[in-house]
Amino acid sequence: MTTKLNLSGALAMFEDHLNEICEALATNITAQLEALPPLPVTDDEYVTWVWAGVREIEVEQITEIPLQVIRRIQSRRYYESMPHHEKKERITDEDIQRAKEVSIEELYEGQLKLVSGKLWGKCPWHAGGQERTASFVVHKDNRWSCFSGCGHGDSLDFVQRRDGVNFIQAVKNLTR
Ligand SMILES: [Zn+2]
Repeated sequence: MTTKLNLSGALAMFEDHLNEICEALATNITAQLEALPPLPVTDDEYVTWVWAGVREIEVEQITEIPLQVIRRIQSRRYYESMPHHEKKERITDEDIQRAKEVSIEELYEGQLKLVSGKLWGKCPWHAGGQERTASFVVHKDNRWSCFSGCGHGDSLDFVQRRDGVNFIQAVKNLTR
C-alpha cells in the first residue's frame, strides 16, 4: 500500500518552520544586498543615506514575493484545518474573480442581437421575459444593463437576480 502525500500533509511537515523559512529568506536577501559593492561616489553622509534608502526599498520589494508565498501557504493551511462544513461555506477572492469572468452572454437564455457594438435582448425580468422591445444590453466589459428599470451589474448581479440568491451563493453557483 502506498501513502499519497496531500497538500495538508506536506504543509504539516513545515508547520513549525514556516516563520523560520520566511525569516531565512528575508535575511538572505538582506545579506546579499549588503554584500553589493558600494556606489562609486564620494562617501559622504548624504550618499550613505540615499544608498541605505535604496537598499531598504529593494529589500522590501524582493522579500514581498516569498512573503506572499508564505502567506498563501498559511492561508491554505488554515483552510485545510477547517471543519468540512465551514470549508463549504467559504469563498475566496479567486472564486469571486472567476465568477465575475463568467460571460453574461453565456448566462443569458435566449437570443441576443448585435446592434451598434452591443448585444441586445429581451430583459429576462420583464413580462416573464416576453417584453416586446429588447431593453437588455450586454456590454463589452461583461456588464449588463436593462433600460426598463432593472438596473445594471456584472455576472454576479445577474445570477443573484436570476436565481434569487445572495452574493455568496451567486459566487458558488457560478464557480462550483
Ligand atoms: Zn428589465
